[in-house]
Amino acid sequence: GLLRTEFIFMEHPDSPDLDTQVKEYRHAFDALNGLPLVARTLDVGGDKPLDYWPLPHEDNPFLGLRGIRLSLTRPEILETQVRALLTAADNRPLRIMFPMVKDLEEFRAAKAIVERVRAEIPCQGLQVGVMIEVPSCALLAHTLAPEVDFFSVGTNDLTQYTLAIDRGHGQLSAESDGLHPSVLQLIRMTVEAAHAHQRWVGICGELASDPQAIPVLLGLDVDELSVTSRRVPLVKACIRGLSREHAREQAKLALGKATAAEVRDALETL
Ligand code: PEP
Ligand code: MG
Repeated sequence: GLLRTEFIFMEHPDSPDLDTQVKEYRHAFDALNGLPLVARTLDVGGDKPLDYWPLPHEDNPFLGLRGIRLSLTRPEILETQVRALLTAADNRPLRIMFPMVKDLEEFRAAKAIVERVRAEIPCQGLQVGVMIEVPSCALLAHTLAPEVDFFSVGTNDLTQYTLAIDRGHGQLSAESDGLHPSVLQLIRMTVEAAHAHQRWVGICGELASDPQAIPVLLGLDVDELSVTSRRVPLVKACIRGLSREHAREQAKLALGKATAAEVRDALETL
C-alpha cells in the first residue's frame, strides 16, 4: 500500500496543521495494526492543484513545480508533515518517500529535513526512500542506493516521462504502457543498483496490478508490489501460480522486445 498524503491536503480548505495531520496519520497507523505505513510526502502541482497554494502559470506543469520540487520551495510545510508522521508513528514502522525526485541532490535536501525532525522525535523503524518516477533517477540509481533505504518505482509517472506521453492525454494515453521495454530496462537498473546495496524495491504504479506485468516484475527481482485493496486477491493469485524460474524467463523475453505491443504479444495472457 501507499498513502498518497496529498489527498489529506486536498480535503481541507487550508493547509492542514500539525494536529490535524497527526490525527489523520494516526488513523492510518491504527488501521495497519503494526504493519509498516508507507507515506508518500505531499505530491501536488502538475495535474494536482491545491486551491490554497496557487502556482504561477506554467506552460508545461508536468515538467514544472511538482512533487518534491514544489515541497522544497516551502520546506516548512514538508517539515510539519514529517513531524506529524513521526509523532503519529510513535515508534511504529514508518516508510517515508519523496515523489518526483530527479537526483541525489534533491533527495539529500528532503532527507535533511527528515533527519532534523528525527533528532527531535526519535522513530525506530523509520526508513527513508525515494520514488523512481523520473528516468534520471533510474539511470543514476547506483548513486542513490548507498544513501536511501529503499526505492519505490512509480510506474505511472516513470512511463509518462520515459515515453514523453502525458498520462492523461485523450488520444495518446493508451500508448503509455508501463510494459514498454524502455520502462522495464529502467526498472531492471533500479533493482540491480538497489540489491547491490541490500536495499529493497517496491513498485507502486498501476503496473504492479497488471496480470501480464506481474511475472515480469517478479522476474526482474522486485521485492514488493503495492496495489489497491480491491486488486490484492488477483495479485496474490497471480503470484501463487508462478515459479521464480518462469518469472525470470518472462522478464528476459520482455526485455528483448522493441515495443510495448511486442512485449504484450510475447507474454502469456494470465
Ligand atoms: C506513480 O506515478 O506511479 C505513482 C504511484 O504516483 P501517482 O500515480 O500518484 O502520480
Ligand atoms: Mg507519480
